[in-house]
Amino acid sequence: MKMEDKFQITDAEWEVMRVVWTLQQATSKDIIEVLQSKKNWKQATAKTLIGRLVQKGMLDTEKDGKRYLYTAAVDENESVKMLQDRLFERICNKEVGKTIATMILESTLSHDDIKLLEKNLEMKKSQAVEEVKCNCVPGQCQCKGHLHQNHH
Ligand SMILES: [Zn+2]
Repeated sequence: MKMEDKFQITDAEWEVMRVVWTLQQATSKDIIEVLQSKKNWKQATAKTLIGRLVQKGMLDTEKDGKRYLYTAAVDENESVKMLQDRLFERICNKEVGKTIATMILESTLSHDDIKLLEKNLEMKKSQAVEEVKCNCVPGQCQCKGHLHQNHH
């Protein structure tokens, strides 16, 4: 299975993954217990989600007597990175900077977070381009370049 396919993961499945990443090894009962206060899932719902995650290769399963133990088959940081990539794949390359700027404004940040952002921005200054190139299919964004292409 390709990495991208694995990451066709729903919000509900992501909730389950977070529990397994945190506990490192969990039974379906553990997962349901943690999510009880947040999600009003029936046991069957949670088990269905777990089953899908196993199918997708996101969870490994191991039999331990009568019960099954689940462990994460993918790294949490790597998964967050994939989520982030998926977000940026959905918008025009030209919109990425503005989107990041809005995300920063809308986030609660510590002084350390801001120091890190400043450091990263300082680094990016030396690599900045005159103009970010649009990566969209004509008709999927408002870029002038595309309108140009369509009209000539
Ligand atoms: Zn575009």
